[in-house]
Amino acid sequence: MRKLIDCHIHTGFCNHATGKPGAYVAAARAAGVSAMLFAEHAPLPVAFDPDRHLSMCDSDLEPYCATIATLAKENPDIEIGLGLEVDWLADEPMYAADSIARGRAAGAKVFLGSVHFLGTWAFDDPNDMTGWDRRDVDDVWREYVGVWCEAASSGLFDVMAHPDLPKKFGHRPTFEPLREYERMARAAAASGVLVEVSTAGLRKPVGELYPGAELLRAFAAAGVSATVGSDAHAPSEVGFAIADAYAALVDAGHSRIAYPLAGSERRYLEL
Ligand SMILES: [Zn+2]
Ligand SMILES: [Zn+2]
Repeated sequence: MRKLIDCHIHTGFCNHATGKPGAYVAAARAAGVSAMLFAEHAPLPVAFDPDRHLSMCDSDLEPYCATIATLAKENPDIEIGLGLEVDWLADEPMYAADSIARGRAAGAKVFLGSVHFLGTWAFDDPNDMTGWDRRDVDDVWREYVGVWCEAASSGLFDVMAHPDLPKKFGHRPTFEPLREYERMARAAAASGVLVEVSTAGLRKPVGELYPGAELLRAFAAAGVSATVGSDAHAPSEVGFAIADAYAALVDAGHSRIAYPLAGSERRYLEL
């Protein structure tokens, strides 16, 4: 069996996942995952997460980093990376760079870039679904692609997480999005950022990987390398459907995956 890698794991620190970090390591061992990247949600500005249900509290950043660093030392049989998932906020252009600098100072080494917000609307938050009633789905997709390309081009991130997230609840563009996908692929190729194949979409209403096959092919055609993650929010989700992600990568024309566990240093697994 191929080495199992999971480069997107949360913990109870973010206030909407369950379980202590050690429980995720135990679950990884039980699932046969031999390389894992913790990527907890970095603290958001208060205006974006007033009741702290989307991200870590500021005061938890250092304890989180210290906890993962200790786990990495105590569990040498598993490669454990210390990362953060950082939002790209179009309305707060300095936020991501500031957040990454704070994370780096606390010891984090790998930074996943995510677009969960358009303006202050968290379009993938099940508690904030009314935005979908107010907005035209095609407009949401077009705006998302523009913001995603800004994030991918920023040069700040090691990986762009779950690249076609707006489909989470089944909202699809009514137009043929190939040109938008090619634009995303060009942006990622130009900056050298990795893209994530996330198995989380298989657990959501959309019921498919992020990204879907067409976007994954566009990334492969542009020479963009990919990594894989479960976006686990419970220990039982560590390693979830990673073999499906490998199969989708092969189908789309990717010959290997990257797994960034320590900053710009990348390791590869041949598929
Ligand atoms: Zn989360
Ligand atoms: Zn995310």
